[in-house]
Amino acid sequence: MTVDRVELVGLLREEVEAFLGEMGEPRYRGRQLFQWVQARRVLDPDAMTSLPRALRGRLAARVHIARPEAARVQRALDGTRKYLYRLADAEEIESVLIPDDGRLTACISTQVGCPLACRFCLTGLMGVRRNLEAGEVVGQILALQDGLEKGERISNIVLMGMGEPLLNIPQVERALRILSDGYGANFSPRRITLSTAGHVPGIQKLAASDLGVNLAVSLSATTDAVRDQIMPINRRWPIAELLKACLEYPLPNRRRLTFEYVMLDGVNDSPEDAKRLVTLLRGVRCKINLIPFNTAPDLPDRPSSRERVNAFQRILHDAGLTATIRESRGWDISAACGMLRTETERG
Ligand code: SAH
Repeated sequence: MTVDRVELVGLLREEVEAFLGEMGEPRYRGRQLFQWVQARRVLDPDAMTSLPRALRGRLAARVHIARPEAARVQRALDGTRKYLYRLADAEEIESVLIPDDGRLTACISTQVGCPLACRFCLTGLMGVRRNLEAGEVVGQILALQDGLEKGERISNIVLMGMGEPLLNIPQVERALRILSDGYGANFSPRRITLSTAGHVPGIQKLAASDLGVNLAVSLSATTDAVRDQIMPINRRWPIAELLKACLEYPLPNRRRLTFEYVMLDGVNDSPEDAKRLVTLLRGVRCKINLIPFNTAPDLPDRPSSRERVNAFQRILHDAGLTATIRESRGWDISAACGMLRTETERG
């Protein structure tokens, strides 16, 4: 049915302009079409009233404007909302909306599942099924926006849902360009954060691009012995290589990298770890986000006690590092960090 149609949501503005050029239309018509799709979020070409009626008719026959279908929406006691989105091929992903202090952060997925198998992450247990298309990454934001309540506006985007964004760079990069286009959803790159488990060539590629998004790196250990165990990607790119890539990452004025650190009881949470972390991060412009571990029956680790997390944070503070403790959000609906998993929740 839609096989021959052009899927518009994953196209850059220049590509929409070129497409309309091929249809014999001037460039600005392409810009208008992009605006209708990305900023006004209209699904039916017939409703694009700034376009000539005849063109709307031709578009209706040629294009498709996709949305993932919200198969389920869950609301946590703290206001966090989790969306289960079904894609065109019936694969499912999750996206989360997190209201916080006047901000509304959208946490979106970049892959169906994830191949990296971090020991503390439920998505990792699924394995990876496929990469998302740019239109599916963008589609999560558009669909979340479609469902917002009156007066709400997504203020920040974090690529911290299912998947490793740097294993899907071409589609992720394309999606971020679409989302930050001034004629589209118009998210400033500084309000977008890409989080990686430490894919070094990916970090280098991102550094060489002009995307300008914030980078977060999930470190979660201070020795290779421990990191090898809990994050198998470390066997390929150990801590020293990872931190070297981080040091080389170009940061605009006043911006900093974020290091995420999941606190696992007796694994990576000792005062010695905190001191090693201080040494490792010397000279890196960064802040540290300590993440309380979200447990699940299928995961072997236990969360660090609050005292231990506080003591860890104190050592970082005393050494002059900025370290915050991430409040766990959406835990009661399994929307918290590392809890996104669709397969086992079915049925
Ligand atoms: N693959 C990317 C993005 C997805 S994970 C990455 O690794 O950064 C997003 C964040 O959730 C990471 O910082 C990860 O360390 C954290 N996380 C994963 N499982 C968790 C869990 N069970 N409890 C707390 N945080 C977790």
